[in-house]
Amino acid sequence: MTDRIITVMGHKVPDCDSTCTAIAIAHLLNEQGKQAEAFILGEPNPEAVYLLEQANIPMPETKLSVAGEDVYIVDYSDMALAPDDIRQANIIGIIDHHKLGDLTTNQPLECWIWPVGCSATILAHVYDFHQVMIPPKMAYLMLGAIISDTVNFRSPTTTDRDINTAERLAEISGVESINDLAQAQFAAKSDVSQVPDSKLILRDQKVFEMETVRFSISQIEVTNVNAVLARKAELLDALRHYHQDQSYDQCLVLISDINEMNSTVLSVGSLGDEVCSALLGERLDDQSFYLPGVVSRKKQIIPKLQNRFS
Ligand code: MN
Ligand code: MN
Repeated sequence: MTDRIITVMGHKVPDCDSTCTAIAIAHLLNEQGKQAEAFILGEPNPEAVYLLEQANIPMPETKLSVAGEDVYIVDYSDMALAPDDIRQANIIGIIDHHKLGDLTTNQPLECWIWPVGCSATILAHVYDFHQVMIPPKMAYLMLGAIISDTVNFRSPTTTDRDINTAERLAEISGVESINDLAQAQFAAKSDVSQVPDSKLILRDQKVFEMETVRFSISQIEVTNVNAVLARKAELLDALRHYHQDQSYDQCLVLISDINEMNSTVLSVGSLGDEVCSALLGERLDDQSFYLPGVVSRKKQIIPKLQNRFS
């Protein structure tokens, strides 16, 4: 009897953590004698593309269906972020650092959910738990994920564990300056000049289903925010079209300045005023508002929306 292959995967609209940490989980499972392969649930993320190219590791293949498979999930536990047929899969493990979602299982599973800044931080400790060495390339990818998720340790989601783990991973991978790597990663995702409006408004999109309302919340993280704000009218146009075509109550796009650590929010839908006031936004016009000091969707946006709409 051959072993079933374990599918390791992050969330829909894959980010750095969902891509890089999935690869490093698959490696750990392989080291434990299991057959595992990482996949992504959508188009590759530019920051992950950069890291994988640097590490000379191929981008995982895309997969959208997991019915009947054994799956190991990373970076979420929400049904809305999973493949549509996730209920027909057998979830054997979860590594995550978000609020507990609504996925459930029929059988016991390995579950590592810690309140830290990145799934890769947890994974480093899971490697330790299993007494498996982290190879330099995996350390590099995990370091990149931590830098990305914590915005180079400046996001309020950052914990001491993330910082200590990143320093250790930098040592293993031979990265001399974490800062230099951060700047290179941020440059990779900041060049959006070739990304059409209709795609840019879905950058890093996540779907949040609260009791009575459904949100689509995208986030464009850049160092050169003016280049994106110059396209505001076009982006709002694209967002209005998207909102018309989809069944979300409210569509938000955070344009986050990761130098100055603030966000301009494009907001289309019937809940606009309520959303702006729930987030204590400074109204710019009918369909946009400003959030000084806000860059974390997970920590600074979702809890407030849940308070208001659940
Ligand atoms: Mn993520
Ligand atoms: Mn993450």
